[in-house]
Amino acid sequence: MYNFVFDPKTFTLEDEFSFNCYKGISCFNKCCYDVKLVLSPYDFLRLRKSLSLEVEEFIKKYGELYLGEVTQLPVISINIDPYTFACAFLKEEGCTVYKERPSSCRLYPLARFITRNDKGERQEIYKIIRETHCKGHYENRIIKIKDYLKEQELFPYLFFNDLWGEVIIKRQKFANIPLTGDILDLIFLMVYDLPNFKEKLEKNFFLEDFFLEEDDKNSEEKLLEKSLIYIRDKLLTEENLL
Ligand code: SF4
Ligand code: SF4
Repeated sequence: MYNFVFDPKTFTLEDEFSFNCYKGISCFNKCCYDVKLVLSPYDFLRLRKSLSLEVEEFIKKYGELYLGEVTQLPVISINIDPYTFACAFLKEEGCTVYKERPSSCRLYPLARFITRNDKGERQEIYKIIRETHCKGHYENRIIKIKDYLKEQELFPYLFFNDLWGEVIIKRQKFANIPLTGDILDLIFLMVYDLPNFKEKLEKNFFLEDFFLEEDDKNSEEKLLEKSLIYIRDKLLTEENLL
């Protein structure tokens, strides 16, 4: 039976927890089954680049594109095998995209939340996810949350995921205003289809108020960063949506 609980304790970056995961542990890759992996825009960028696939090719081969029920924004998730329920990237030898695995795979067994304290200050807190199949919790390795994030090379992912989170919050602020097809196409272009977006920018396409430094023109990461900020601050505004 599928069994998923959060530990009641809330952790900060300085807190320690006990966990280890390694090739050879009895539950190795059990967490790669029956899991709906939703990719953040940065997850998608890293995976697509590492596999040297075009955007459409990637989606056709590994994923599904749809509008998020809550966000009403375009979402890409990874397929699971209909017979074994394994993630599309899991093969006999293990995860075939391990070096570029998505942020949720890196973060597990942690769940991260951004909240505000009584003074309105931003707070980053963590909860521990426990599932019956995961034996990593019984390993005797104590590690600080912040060191675990470093070990899992999560910092660039968190930076972009937080920006994407701000886009989602902005969208929810105006959730009663439906997004037109044109706006959805533009969001898809700016968030997932970066090579095409770059090409359109080079041909002086239509976004006059979108500005990219000369030095940043060859970086898809910079393009994604600027795109997310543009969507948050300029595209998803009440006056623009109405
Ligand atoms: S991407 Fe890799 S680590 Fe993540 S669920 Fe799929 S196979 Fe497992
Ligand atoms: S220890 Fe947990 S995260 Fe690691 S392979 Fe086992 S189930 Fe997956």
